[in-house]
Amino acid sequence: MTVTAIVGANWGDEGKGKMTDALAAESSYVVRYQGGSNAGHTIINSYGKFALHMLPSGVFHPEITNVIGPGTALDIDVLLKERDELLARGVPEPTIRVSERAQVVLSIHRLFDELEEERLGANGFGSTKRGIAPFYADKYAKLGVQVADLYDEERLLHRLEQSLAAKNVLLQQLYNRQPIKAIDLLPELLEQAEKLRPFVCDTSSLLHEAYRNGQSILLEGQLGALRDPDHGIYPYSTSSSTLAGFAPVGAGLPPYAITRIIAVVKAYSSCVGAGPFVSELSGEEADQLRRLGGDAGEFGATTGRPRRMGWFDAVASRYGCMLQGATEVALTNLDVLGYLDEIPVCVGYEIDGSLIKESFPVTAKLDQAKPVLKRLPGWRCDISKIRSFEQLPEAAQQYVRFVEEVIGVKIGSVSVGPNREQLMTL
Ligand code: GDP
Repeated sequence: MTVTAIVGANWGDEGKGKMTDALAAESSYVVRYQGGSNAGHTIINSYGKFALHMLPSGVFHPEITNVIGPGTALDIDVLLKERDELLARGVPEPTIRVSERAQVVLSIHRLFDELEEERLGANGFGSTKRGIAPFYADKYAKLGVQVADLYDEERLLHRLEQSLAAKNVLLQQLYNRQPIKAIDLLPELLEQAEKLRPFVCDTSSLLHEAYRNGQSILLEGQLGALRDPDHGIYPYSTSSSTLAGFAPVGAGLPPYAITRIIAVVKAYSSCVGAGPFVSELSGEEADQLRRLGGDAGEFGATTGRPRRMGWFDAVASRYGCMLQGATEVALTNLDVLGYLDEIPVCVGYEIDGSLIKESFPVTAKLDQAKPVLKRLPGWRCDISKIRSFEQLPEAAQQYVRFVEEVIGVKIGSVSVGPNREQLMTL
């Protein structure tokens, strides 16, 4: 029995949700350990198509326990709405457990996210405006509200007052808004707390026990390695660690528990939000890849924004897999490239006349990086119905082997479509 982390090696949107949904069948627990409702995992199965923002991707299997760990940014409204939507669409009642230590995204976090992005204008970071940056800022400034605080009204009011003291100065002086009273935030939070109550427990003890009993646990990452605040394209990063190394912390498991780290790598690149993106395409080339990519074009699962598109980036993907400590790779969206005669791939960056291949430059240097492209033969056919590697056209096999070689990690599975069964193991 294993503890497996499924994480992104790129900028996010690699297809982690699909991989988690496919692998969940063999797991007892699926755990979200970081991030909030700011990214969406698209899942297509016999119940239909879903974009999960807050719920773990194991919710389609009633026998699986889905855990929201202490490291997450819990948006209670989104969680409850997603659950209601699942039930309304015929999915059996999922088992959900929310950590009493998880912290809560408040309406003031969403408000500050919007006001700040508006203030920054063209210099903004492309925030999804789900309150994530203000939430984590509060968490690490020790101004956050834990789920357990919701069940002690006096304590909750005190925590909110502490959090609002500095925010009200900013609201009035910087954003030209009215101050907010802590007491006014209470009714909504207390109502949410009651609805959340049946799901709340000590998830860390729950998971430790499961781990000791040898049950299999899937830790589900959000976004990708290049959005990690320490190792990614800071400041165009997210606000919590996207790395498998953080998974035991955010979930509440021993660091040595993880034995398998599946880094999900996309056969081309896509990216939502601002920041350097060396292999980025423009014009018709980008439009075509965006139109044909994903399950219905490459548009953000949370915002609906068109994703920025690029060719596969060997430098970034190798770095992403290294950071994740990948023990294997799942290569997704290979089917999408079937329209090309030749497939360009970015094998290096040129910065000031020097060729960079082995290391991923810091953000300050990335803006000057130009992609060095190589062309691989295309296969020009539909591979979405193929279920074994050997039956893939020779050129598609070559492409997979090429990716494996440049990233230096074994490819364990290849995905050729958005559905659960469009997957082959190698
Ligand atoms: P996640 O956040 O990593 O789960 O990724 P998203 O769900 O945001 O984006 C991945 C997109 O690719 C979604 O539209 C998926 O339905 C789709 N997808 C996943 N795997 C494949 C695949 O192998 N082929 C195709 N064509 N689409 C895929």
